[in-house]
Amino acid sequence: MSFRSLMARSLGALTIAAAFVGSASAQDYPTRQITMIVPFAAGGPTDVVTRIVASHMAQTLGQAIVIENVVGAGGTTGATRAARAQPDGYTLITGHMGTHAAAVPLYPKLAYNPEKDFEPIALLAGTPILVLARKDFPASDLTGFVAYLKANTDKINMAHAGVGSVSHVSCELFNSIVGIKPTGVPFNGTGPAMNALVAQQVDYMCDQVVNAVPQIKGGTIRAYAVATPERNPSLPELPTSAEAGLPAYQASAWNAMFAPKGTPEAILVKLNAAAAKALDDDNVRKRLLELGSDIPKPEGRTREALGGLVRSEVAKWSAVLKAAQN
Ligand code: ASP
Repeated sequence: MSFRSLMARSLGALTIAAAFVGSASAQDYPTRQITMIVPFAAGGPTDVVTRIVASHMAQTLGQAIVIENVVGAGGTTGATRAARAQPDGYTLITGHMGTHAAAVPLYPKLAYNPEKDFEPIALLAGTPILVLARKDFPASDLTGFVAYLKANTDKINMAHAGVGSVSHVSCELFNSIVGIKPTGVPFNGTGPAMNALVAQQVDYMCDQVVNAVPQIKGGTIRAYAVATPERNPSLPELPTSAEAGLPAYQASAWNAMFAPKGTPEAILVKLNAAAAKALDDDNVRKRLLELGSDIPKPEGRTREALGGLVRSEVAKWSAVLKAAQN
């Protein structure tokens, strides 16, 4: 046998062996702990939603899921890390409406494409946006709040979780409707931003409901409105933005799980099933509902549904932010 044909044969055998190992390891998956990147600080909405769902997924998968908070640049630092990770199912990310949609128009040099560099796993929670302020803010309702912001815009500061984060884009939308340009104060997540709001070090914030229910109930912050058409069952007293006089302000976010592009199909199917099972668990549901989030219905939990959501949200936020900047 010539050297060339010997090489060709051995390479063929190697390829078959590699393909076999690949599919066998996808079937055995997971055989070791999984790292879940949370691109914001511990204690904020992305972190809390991830911990609730991932702890149940870990039971289903039979392996620990370790949360790694990789913060910075409105969540895009962690999302970049996840996009570049080995696509073997052992590094995943919980992203959101910011990292996987609104960051696209806001970062012209974004190091990843949410549609092309990730495999959707599952939508975990819908999270309406609330308009929040420090507890001693001198306004008792949304109309008074807006009037105060307009009259004092150069003295006001707004907390957010970095350019492109949910809290940033949601409040930019609010600010453009109201017609103000306050000073932005960035944090590594709205967990620490909420601490600053409770400590009255910042004036206001627009954030995902899951970050605010205990503080609103405990009276440590003020809430002026929920920016959805319906009131939130966890905060039945809180008016909608329409009821409070600002119907144009509508904003709702979401958190979802992704894997790097190229992760084997069999692994994605297992992860999606584990996430869907978690969302059916009574205890997981109770915890998510208490925090005011919407639990995706079965048809909204598929990988295809999440892929479609990312596509439509990138388009939506590109248009909304362009209009808001004009
Ligand atoms: N809710 C935050 C945001 O504004 C992020 C977080 O801490 O989960 O994007």
